Amino acid sequence: QMHYQPIIDLSTSEVVGFEALMRWKHPERGWVPPDVFIPLAEQSTLILELGAFAMHESVTTACTWEPQGDQTKAPYVTVNLSAHQFQDPDLVPMIERELQQSGLDPERLLLEVTETVALLDITETMNVMEHLNRLKIGIALDDFGTGYSSLSYLAALNPRIIKIDQSFVRPKHDLDRSNTLLEAIVTLGNKLDMIVLAEGIETPEQLGHLHNLHCDLGQGFLWSPAVPSGEALSMLGESKHPTAD
Ligand code: C2E
Ligand code: MG
Ligand code: MG
Repeated sequence: QMHYQPIIDLSTSEVVGFEALMRWKHPERGWVPPDVFIPLAEQSTLILELGAFAMHESVTTACTWEPQGDQTKAPYVTVNLSAHQFQDPDLVPMIERELQQSGLDPERLLLEVTETVALLDITETMNVMEHLNRLKIGIALDDFGTGYSSLSYLAALNPRIIKIDQSFVRPKHDLDRSNTLLEAIVTLGNKLDMIVLAEGIETPEQLGHLHNLHCDLGQGFLWSPAVPSGEALSMLGESKHPTAD
């Protein structure tokens, strides 16, 4: 199943998008987290089937969402891609088919890739990026700060969104240094005209701190974990999301 975690605009506290996260309900083991089954699926072509399933479900579900407040567009959906998918020649045609069949505005679809995946084969990555740009599909650079964080490739990849990894948002040690890095990443993204999103916000203090740093978007248990599509739909229209004030 695909579950959806809201992405919140930190200035308006409106839901501007959802990240689609995969869950597997095993008949005996219950809910198996993606950290367990995705790496296994990546050892075979099963990951391509799971990836196609994730894309189909996410694009179909996003079509049921309506614009919020003064928004001109309904919330977008971000879909995680694995390394194998990124190297699959059918990736772009598969996405094009899904967009065509569903009628989803391509600007409401973003693909989440980690730096590690994007930099595996930079020539191939730039080639895929060019196709995606032409289709107006955006890239969200996932877990930023934990991979190579190559600044020249950051400029070349030009992602629409940088997702700051949770380890900077909820540092376990070296608090001062982590905070300095957090501040530097937000400033870097702002200066490069990229939208900066902080992952894994759990407390009002973390939210207030990120808002003060001018971080644009947030995601985390403070608002909601990933929920089934029906719950995501009913979340839209509610205005009682925690704010930074
Ligand atoms: P990710 O893309 O970085 O997703 C964020 C993870 O952080 C999710 O875990 C989410 O539930 C969790 N999270 C969100 N907010 C908070 C918070 O406030 N506190 C804490 N402690 N955790 C939070 P999840 O769903 O278990 O996914 C783990 C990873 O599995 C994802 O990391 C992603 O890399 C991968 N994944 C999930 N779904 C898919 C998929 O459809 N395709 C692929 N290729 N990978 C997927
Ligand atoms: Mg992600
Ligand atoms: Mg992440």
